[in-house]
Amino acid sequence: MPKIHKLSKEIISKIAAGEVIERPAYAVKELIENSLDADATKIVVSLKNFGLDEISVFDNGVGIDKEDLKIAIEPHATSKISSETDIESVATLGFRGEALSSIASISNFEIKSRVTNKKGYLYKNKKLRAVAMPEGTEVIIRNIFSSTPARKKFLKTSQTEYRQILSQFISFAIAKPEVEFSLLHNKKLVYKFKTKKLKSRISEVLGHETSKFLILTKLIDSYVRVDGFISHPQINFKSKERIFIYINGRRIHNLSLANAIRDGYKNLLMSHTYPLAILNIKIPVNLIDVNVHPRKEIIRLIDEHTVASLVKESVAKSLEDKNLTFRNLSFRDKLTKSSLAKSLREEISETKEAHLGLVKKTAEVIQLHNLYLVTETKNGVMIFDQHAVHEAVLYYKLKYAFLKKKEKNISLKIAKPILVKVSEIQESLVFENLEYLNKIGFDIEEFGEKTFKLSAVPLIATDLDPKVCFFETLESLENKSTKELDDNINSMLSYLACRSAIKSGQKLTKLQIKSLIKYLDKIDLGYTCPHGRPVKIELSKAYLETLFRR
Ligand code: ADP
Ligand code: MG
Repeated sequence: MPKIHKLSKEIISKIAAGEVIERPAYAVKELIENSLDADATKIVVSLKNFGLDEISVFDNGVGIDKEDLKIAIEPHATSKISSETDIESVATLGFRGEALSSIASISNFEIKSRVTNKKGYLYKNKKLRAVAMPEGTEVIIRNIFSSTPARKKFLKTSQTEYRQILSQFISFAIAKPEVEFSLLHNKKLVYKFKTKKLKSRISEVLGHETSKFLILTKLIDSYVRVDGFISHPQINFKSKERIFIYINGRRIHNLSLANAIRDGYKNLLMSHTYPLAILNIKIPVNLIDVNVHPRKEIIRLIDEHTVASLVKESVAKSLEDKNLTFRNLSFRDKLTKSSLAKSLREEISETKEAHLGLVKKTAEVIQLHNLYLVTETKNGVMIFDQHAVHEAVLYYKLKYAFLKKKEKNISLKIAKPILVKVSEIQESLVFENLEYLNKIGFDIEEFGEKTFKLSAVPLIATDLDPKVCFFETLESLENKSTKELDDNINSMLSYLACRSAIKSGQKLTKLQIKSLIKYLDKIDLGYTCPHGRPVKIELSKAYLETLFRR
């Protein structure tokens, strides 16, 4: 083993920088945080070649004095804290004094700044010179990671890095409606967010159609204050991506708070789905610790449990006030009328009866609590979860029909091609995954500015609105790393089944119960639904006998 020696300062700073600035989006995050800490009311992010060639962030904040410019990019140089106790009460987004030095060490870096009533100065290649510029600060990063080729190798595709930048940008734009945010890519304006009210900012950022579905939520407790917007339950997603939680203005990722939001919906949401939510939580700074994660995305809450239950309460109360019921929610349940379901039914009637014979033909099935179906079996008593049963039945039906049809054709032509408008993020997803989308049966063509022409959809989606199918596929691409065809088809099938299955809380007629149970004879229903939740539980006669000490 070679002799141990101390690394040079330059190498140390590159190693440390790699930990904070793992990808271009994190540089953008740090720069926007600096602009916000400088009280900017206008921030412009400008990218070249998806941010890989150049990232610049300009703000109209307080600026940096001439003599501080070169100190700002020294390691551990900050104006935000000066003593150890300050860390406990830090109210700015930054405080470690690492960002600028880290970014400078892994890129070709320059910074310009001008404070009120002074000249502007540019600091570049260790030289300072006067420049004409408006008040504020601009940082330009060129060729990020050019000096750390190892890190560059680990970057995902440029489209993926670009989407990461866009998501960072979007989280800030929602967090600070009082600030105007613009983003340019290759000199083209991609976003300009100017509305100042939270609700209008959310719809500006996430699409105007969302604003109809936003529900205000607010709760003020002795020391925690929760406020923001949650979505009507019919707007829901397979991942937590659209849950934006800000603690004292900082976006954080916290599983128990995200779950608390979900729990607030009780059974208004199906399992494995999450709403859209934008929650601002204010907590006294001495009850949190922001210094536990390199990018400060995770915060330690001294009393996480209380905060989570307040979040849940806030969400639950605002939904109760809206008096939502299950029946209002089934806007996508179009499966019954559809051709695929029809042909499926035909297929199924031909299937030979399986030899399961679990449920007695003559046994009565009763519904309890609008959720459980209970019946007598040869060996005891069977309890079914009605949603899970229906989901499983639909899943098997869909899969069976799909496999049969797939052999012939995977794609279904739409009679009249439709135009779909997409967001910047969705456009980037389509470009990156075009080949895959074709493979699963989509026929898509670029059709002008953020618009695609859709002429065919995957056969599997016959029963869905082609647009819904398209957007749901994009959503699953956004959240999933696996591009395996079978995986994706299975997850699409199980998703379709879940969406279309009857919910818990729904009173079923005798006829509905009968037709549901009828399938149980024909399909080898496993003990779990496609999502892994139990479908049925059997209590054997022997077990009941031991309970009753017979
Ligand atoms: P930190 O934000 O943790 O203090 P940084 O390395 O990000 O550390 O920035 C170092 C210092 O440079 C900041 O403390 C601040 O004084 C100054 N600074 C950086 N960016 C800006 C900006 N956009 N406007 C004004 N001052 C800035
Ligand atoms: Mg900073």
